[in-house]
Amino acid sequence: MTRFVDVGDMVRWLAGRGTEQVIAEMIGYLEADFRRWEQFDKCPRVASHTPFGVIELMPTSDQENYGFKYVNGHPSNPSRGFQTVTAFGVLADVHNGYPTFLAEMTVLTALRTAATSAMVARRLARPDSRVMAMIGTGTQSEFQALAFRAALGISQLQVWDTDPAAVAKFLRNVEPLGFTVTVAGSAAEAVQGADVITTCTADKAQATILTADLVAPGVHLNAIGGDCPGKTELDAAILLRGDVFVEFTPQTRIEGEIQQMPADYPVTEFWEVLVGSKPGRTSAEQITVFDSVGFAIEDFSALRYVRDAVQGTDFFEEIDLVASPEDPKDLFGLVAAFTPAA
Ligand code: NAD
Repeated sequence: MTRFVDVGDMVRWLAGRGTEQVIAEMIGYLEADFRRWEQFDKCPRVASHTPFGVIELMPTSDQENYGFKYVNGHPSNPSRGFQTVTAFGVLADVHNGYPTFLAEMTVLTALRTAATSAMVARRLARPDSRVMAMIGTGTQSEFQALAFRAALGISQLQVWDTDPAAVAKFLRNVEPLGFTVTVAGSAAEAVQGADVITTCTADKAQATILTADLVAPGVHLNAIGGDCPGKTELDAAILLRGDVFVEFTPQTRIEGEIQQMPADYPVTEFWEVLVGSKPGRTSAEQITVFDSVGFAIEDFSALRYVRDAVQGTDFFEEIDLVASPEDPKDLFGLVAAFTPAA
């Protein structure tokens, strides 16, 4: 049998455990997996592009478990009543290939993206960071806010979104959680005095949400919205002013902000900072840019974490996903049992 966490189970479990607590615990799983980066099978995700958006498969394996996520990205979806990003994911046992764990990953992707951003910022942002600007207050935004408070203690936010309804939704959701939020009238206003800038906009285009003159020395830029070929958020000049950190270089060169740069543009993979083989932030004036696109190992960590965390609870069910005839060669026997004799 395969364990299955559906949306209802995920949301109830999350509400009980506390979103901020879950993000903090998930960072532990992410760090553990990033530290053993070299053990994993890695490849850029497999993407199927259409004029409407992209559908992707994100596989990886640590030679014990295999995992993959199915995820879409459709920036025009909200205007049609659908979400931009939805997902589900699977873990399987490599010893027999059977799926062991299946989960909704629309909520889980927002959690893992936020946890990854916070894990990276904890190493790259200035330790005295107090104010975060957020450009884009859509689906990911509240999770990002909670993650930065959990990992860096940031509770002062300056936000900007072109859609006033998205800002109103953000305020409704985060103000009761104890954040101090200032609504800006533009991206330029939002980033003034910010120590960290998170860009999480969705546009299937090469957009310029921020220009280089708006990014002050010492800022950590958490750029999560540019995650597809032809879809970027930052003025390329920002990348030249800072040092760029990525998840998995071959995928980020295709999908990240650095698709605007030459193919050999120097970047550091974040796991190298974590294990101490490459420097992270080297001065209080340095601009650090996390060019995040989302990588399969993060989904693997998130699935591993939820699988372990729901163990012993009733926030999952056992589903009959794999046909299991008593005689492994007699699959037809299962059908024959229900087939009337001629
Ligand atoms: P969403 O559509 O729910 O929200 C995006 C918000 O950006 C909207 O409210 C929109 O009004 C706003 N926006 C668009 N253009 C803007 C602009 N020029 N200035 C200010 N605001 C603007 O999308 P989401 O689910 O929150 O995702 C945000 C982005 O993050 C998407 O591009 C998505 O693909 C990406 N994403 C990345 C990762 C990752 O791991 N890096 C994971 C999940 C999502």
